Amino acid sequence: AIVARTKAVDPKVKAFNSFDEADALAQARASDERRAAGQARGPLDGIPIGIKDVISVEGQPLTASSKMLANFVSPYDATVTKKLKNAGAVCWGRLNLDEFAMGSSTENSAFHTTSNPYDLDRVPGGSSGGSAAAVAAGEAIATLGSDTGGSIRQPAALCNVVGLKPTYGLVSRYGLIAFASSLDQIGPFTRTVEDAAITLGAIAGYDPLDSTSFKTEIPDYLAELSKRKGPWKIGIPKEYFGEGLDPEVAAAVEKAVSYYEKLGCEIKNVSLPHTEYGVGVYYIIATAECSSNLGRYDGVRYGHRSKDAKDITELYFKSRAEGFGPEVKRRIILGTYVLSSGYYDAYYLRAQKVRTLIRQDFLNAYKEVDVILTPTAPTPAFKKGEKASNPLAMYLSDIYTIGVNLAGLPGLSIPCGFSKSGLPIGLQLIGQPFKEAELLSIAHTYD
Ligand code: GLN
Repeated sequence: AIVARTKAVDPKVKAFNSFDEADALAQARASDERRAAGQARGPLDGIPIGIKDVISVEGQPLTASSKMLANFVSPYDATVTKKLKNAGAVCWGRLNLDEFAMGSSTENSAFHTTSNPYDLDRVPGGSSGGSAAAVAAGEAIATLGSDTGGSIRQPAALCNVVGLKPTYGLVSRYGLIAFASSLDQIGPFTRTVEDAAITLGAIAGYDPLDSTSFKTEIPDYLAELSKRKGPWKIGIPKEYFGEGLDPEVAAAVEKAVSYYEKLGCEIKNVSLPHTEYGVGVYYIIATAECSSNLGRYDGVRYGHRSKDAKDITELYFKSRAEGFGPEVKRRIILGTYVLSSGYYDAYYLRAQKVRTLIRQDFLNAYKEVDVILTPTAPTPAFKKGEKASNPLAMYLSDIYTIGVNLAGLPGLSIPCGFSKSGLPIGLQLIGQPFKEAELLSIAHTYD
């Protein structure tokens, strides 16, 4: 059914970069046989899960939606892929994104822009726009995305699905193409919070192949959902409700706040005073790390190699010039600048210090509240082309999601209504480190 649905709608939605129907059907048949033999592996057995095209699936293309990796085939499984396969899931297709996960609309994909299933003239958000749109359009039951500054939560909000960015270190990054290693996390897109709990349970856990992976007990997130009933203390940070917030988004989020209030939750105003530096700090740290991570695409080891280079230096220059798109180049240049001698202290080091203050803001707030509630994105889905020529305007669509990555916290976006013109609006809940079970429970109450 998912294959048929994808074939019917994907020519319009364009969520996928590629899919391998024969392979998916073979995986599904294997699952059927396990079930028939009474050997089903749990709730994900036979469930088609789409995977963002920056996460390795052995034998499948892995492009990062970049010309640089247009012909690259992954030689091994990412840890999350392996875990999904062990759970019996059918790994279904490679989902579009902004090139190397840099962007908020999928317009930076070197291949095509994905459409928002709720309005095909609008973007699905990004960078994991393909992952969000696929779930929204019924082209997969769940998908995986990656979130460096909002790339799971913002597209989830724009496409009316659930998107979870786990605590940094909960889910292995082994086999994820690195963008900014201290911020990147893999997480699920689903239709419901229950499905998010199941999918997170399958992919979370310590992995010796990722040096930043954290040793912690993985609870049965699904079972935990019904155990916790609150009432919770919910923090509302005033810095997230100021200028630039669309009035319809504000109204939808306020409705959610009154819902929790009626439930008996205590609503408290909290302050995250360093919020205004979030975007600036993020674009220093993320670009610095990406300039280092993308150094491997030199035309020598793998990826695109220029055909008309005369010597090794020209090979580097031309391979990069031809292989990378404009946003990736902009970020590499910014990143090398903030790391260069003479500017390192003024930009990179200073940004690291402010990052600590941003994390401290959240930890201070958690002395008073269990969870923080904000809008996920300042506006509903924007029109294709609307922000494409203005990087700064595009960067501001992550204003509410970036702090969570800088602080390493879990963040979740759930649907919370529609604008008058029928565009989805998302609500963000920000939890305490490694307290995903609680975060999911709070979201489940509203779901
Ligand atoms: N939109 C942000 C950026 O362009 C975040 C992307 C992400 O989380 N991968 O960097």
